[in-house]
Order: sequence, then C-alpha cells, then structure tokens
Amino acid sequence: MSFRIYAVANQKGGVGKTTTAVNLSAALARLGRRVLLVDLDPQGNATMGSGIDKQDLERSVYPVLLGLMPIDQARIHSEAGGYDVLAANRDLAGAEIELVDLEGREHRLAEALAEVKNDYDFVVLDCPPSLSLLTLNGLCAAHGVIIPMQCEYFALEGLSDLLNSIKRVHANLNPKLEVIGLLRVMFDPRMTLSQQVSDQLVTHFGNKVFQAVIPRNVRLAEAPSFGQPGIVYDPGSRGSKAYLEFGEELIARLDERSATEVA
Ligand code: ADP
Ligand code: MG
Repeated sequence: MSFRIYAVANQKGGVGKTTTAVNLSAALARLGRRVLLVDLDPQGNATMGSGIDKQDLERSVYPVLLGLMPIDQARIHSEAGGYDVLAANRDLAGAEIELVDLEGREHRLAEALAEVKNDYDFVVLDCPPSLSLLTLNGLCAAHGVIIPMQCEYFALEGLSDLLNSIKRVHANLNPKLEVIGLLRVMFDPRMTLSQQVSDQLVTHFGNKVFQAVIPRNVRLAEAPSFGQPGIVYDPGSRGSKAYLEFGEELIARLDERSATEVA
C-alpha cells in the first residue's frame, strides 16, 4: 500500500481545516488505514481534538522540525482517534522564527516524514491559517492538498492566492504536489447561497470538487471539547457519516489512480 501525505490547507481561519484533518484521520483509521496526523498550527486544536493535552508537551512536531528529536520518538498515539499524532502547541510559533536560519528550512517536515514512511498509509497535515513557513513545510512534504471550502459569499476570495502558492511550490520546491480536491464543508442545504456557491465551485473546478459534502452539524463542533473526533464522539451523526464517505472517496480515488498507473 502506498504512503500518501495530504495537507489540509486554506489560509483563511475558521473554514474547517482542523475539523477536516481530525475527522479524516479518524475516518481513515476506522477504514483500517495506518494514519499519522501532524498538527502544524501553534493553536494546537488538532492535538486537543485528538484527546491529547497540549500543555507542557515534551513530544511534539516542534523539536522534530528543529532537528532536536527523531520523529519516531516525538509521535504520540491518540487512543480516542486510533491514529498517531505529531502534536503542537504555542511553542511551534517559535519554530517559525528559529527555522529561518536553518538549512533546508522548507524541507524539514518532508525529511522527518520520510523516516516513518513504512509505518503509515496516510499522513494528514493540519496547516495553520496562513501561508507561513509552517504551511510551506507542509506543502513541501505533501503529495496533495485538500482545500476545505465553506460555501458562502466570500469563499472564493483568497482561493487564488492559495492556488498560486501551490503552483509556486510545485514549480520550485516540490514537483509532486497537486491539488487533490476541494471539499465543501459546513454546508447548509437550506441556504440558496450555499447551493449557488457549490454549483459555482463545480463549474470552475469540475471533478476537483469532492463528491462528499460535509454538512453543518453541531456534533462535529461539540466533539473537540470531549477530546474526540466527531466520528468517534457520535458516529451516527450526519457530519460523521459525511466524513466517513469522504475517507472512502479519497481511498477510491487513490485506487483508481494506481489502477491506471499499472495499466
Ligand atoms: P480552521 O481549522 O480552518 O480554523 P475549524 O475546523 O477549527 O477551522 O472550524 C472552525 C469552527 O467551526 C470550529 O468551532 C468548528 O467546531 C466549527 N465547525 C467546523 N466544521 C463544522 C461543521 N461541519 N459543522 C459545524 N461546525 C463546524
Ligand atoms: Mg485549525
């Protein structure tokens, strides 16, 4: 089975990146895949949402990026999620500055992940809401980018900045990087606008828009305060079912692709 690294990115805050990273990791784990979730956001929300206390972390992504701890020592198992985590907290904000003077500063994460490529089927990267050096490390490590999009009026604003950054990274730093797809999240079918923006996305981006649609669902928002991914906290909720479908769709796309590569 192949080793795939997916960055969940969007430079806007509050668009559902962390919810997607955590629930996708849990969904892939539920589907029997070995998963590592990397929290690249100093806010540490993906860490907390996986049931790991972000205070006083000794093991985290921070010393890994600075070359102070090997990745196999830094990862922590999330009992709640059924996957491993490279955790983060506010310390990671310092890495941004400390990395600047280091050699190969954009490739630190990629190099670390190469050391554990036999341990996982999927690595999911939860990127911070910026196009910072941390996000850049994520994009340099990734095979693909998953972009969560809220179907609201300003959703497309800023998307071109992100797509341009991805193009630049593809051209200069990581030729294997591609946009895997756009994921519609916090979708509210009762809103005409949601449907209009959704249609617009499909018109512009065609089959780059995932078929799975994540509805606005309060159970997904409640779950982090219980230290659990939504799909563990309430597997029967509409939000959980949608993330499970998304995991299945991602795996199916990958299988399709390896079938064409063989053919
Ligand atoms: P980001 O990581 O992009 O900042 P989050 O995943 O933290 O975004 O989501 C922002 C807020 O929206 C959080 O409070 C989260 O619980 C909530 N949220 C995310 N997705 C959903 C959803 N599908 N339904 C309801 N609330 C959601
Ligand atoms: Mg986040």
